[in-house]
Amino acid sequence: MKGAQSDVFHSDIGVLIGDPVSSTFWDLFFADFKLHPDPDDVLLLNVAMSHLEHADDMAVVSYTADGLQRHLTTFVRWCGNNMLEANASKSWIMVFGPLPKSLPTFLLNDLTIGYTDCFCYVGVTFESTAKNIFASHYTAKASAVSRAGHSVLGIEAYIGDLPPKEGRLLYMACIDPHLVSGADIIIDVDDKSLAHLEKVQHAFLCHLLGLGAYSMCAPLFTELGLVPLCYRRLILALRYLGYLINLAATHYAKAALEDSYQLYLKGCQGDWMDLVYALQNLWFPVTLPALPELTPEKYTALTKEVHIVAMRHLDAEMLHDRLEPLEDEPPKKMTAFLRHYLVLVVNTKHRKALTRLLVSQHRLAVERMCYKQQVIVPREDRLCRFGCNHIEMVEHALFFCSQAGEELLQYCNAYTTAMQTTDPRIATVALWNATNVLRSLIF
Ligand SMILES: [Zn+2]
Repeated sequence: MKGAQSDVFHSDIGVLIGDPVSSTFWDLFFADFKLHPDPDDVLLLNVAMSHLEHADDMAVVSYTADGLQRHLTTFVRWCGNNMLEANASKSWIMVFGPLPKSLPTFLLNDLTIGYTDCFCYVGVTFESTAKNIFASHYTAKASAVSRAGHSVLGIEAYIGDLPPKEGRLLYMACIDPHLVSGADIIIDVDDKSLAHLEKVQHAFLCHLLGLGAYSMCAPLFTELGLVPLCYRRLILALRYLGYLINLAATHYAKAALEDSYQLYLKGCQGDWMDLVYALQNLWFPVTLPALPELTPEKYTALTKEVHIVAMRHLDAEMLHDRLEPLEDEPPKKMTAFLRHYLVLVVNTKHRKALTRLLVSQHRLAVERMCYKQQVIVPREDRLCRFGCNHIEMVEHALFFCSQAGEELLQYCNAYTTAMQTTDPRIATVALWNATNVLRSLIF
């Protein structure tokens, strides 16, 4: 090229590597690598899938030990002819399915390859001895979420409490990618594994909203405008399905999809069966159409349906008849939305108190005394701490408690009067309309 350089161009696609060109050159170099067809090859709808590559990360697969050794020998020979050296110390053998009584020895360049039951390939951790081969992926990602969460919250040492809007932004950038890692191919059929991710997710969101660790889950999503993890991951899996159904029949991924569907028809496990199971086990069951009937229109409707179920699920547990103030349009019902008070109330203590009030996590007796020594206390017995013989609920504490002290009462009256002057829609407080007045003070 005599030192000539091309024009500057943007390169924003490719694998996660320093420069995408290196992996492209490697792909070109490796393009003529082929393994001989073998009777023990794994078939996906009659297409032999003996090896997978992601740049120079390679997986060789076979149904039998002899078949795998034949492929390894061919691979070593190809490397020798192309000035490469296969490294046994960086290679591992995994056995999926029942283990043989004695493990066979595999050689690469005359060196023995070790066995492992857990390995991360292309960012996905596989475990060969667990019932769920992705079980370790969930725990690895839960650890990553925990580390990322602590890193994000570490900023509070410098700025004080992280505001919800900015916290949500950092959550989507640094934590959500770990939570949805592999969601397109790993269908959540194991609640125990998913719970690892949900636990660390809830801990972060509770901290962001200033709620206790045992807060209800639904408000974490309704107040921050997020979709619960099981639905979010399933929607991503369905989006990937949408990509697959549009592929040409010659594409390997399409062959894998067809193969998975054929397995399902025979009653065997696979991705399709997992997807059917996951959809059927939603809060409201959703039916997956048969693969030949899954047109792009049906696929789009299916994805929307899952989102609707997610919102209905949250609706069932959220504050009813609540209208969200919006900037450019009249207030309307929004199931999951970054709430106005989380942005507008800048005083951290006030914002957290308001959040706790809205999600019933406040310290008033009506909630705090729900249980005493693990026994439910009747509502009428959760009385005001100042001894005024009324249930200590928000309305009572804010508007009616006569024993709380003159000063506090004056503050409450002054606040309500000021609000009524600002907004004439706020009525004079009486016992019969206290809940509505409280609601109109907030929304
Ligand atoms: Zn009272």
